[in-house]
Amino acid sequence: MLRCRILGHRFRFLSEGETMRWHCARGCGAGGAKRYPAAEDAERYARAFDREDSEDLGRRAPLVGLFPLRLLRAVRLRRKKETAPGPGPEPPTH
Ligand SMILES: [Zn+2]
Repeated sequence: MLRCRILGHRFRFLSEGETMRWHCARGCGAGGAKRYPAAEDAERYARAFDREDSEDLGRRAPLVGLFPLRLLRAVRLRRKKETAPGPGPEPPTH
């Protein structure tokens, strides 16, 4: 699906006993599963991932509490879009 390739998959997470499953809500067929030692773990992770994913889509601006990896990616994307005027330190943002 083209949207998935551009925006990334819209994964939904759910737990089935000790297994956490996820699939793309756009129905492109992407998904997977992971087993945890306990059903509580699977449920907890599924809930955490599901929430994180919805929050990420809800507000696109990087806010406090984001995954460091996501923050890094957001910074990289922003830098790529800018045409840098020249070398030198970036101005402080307030
Ligand atoms: Zn997808």
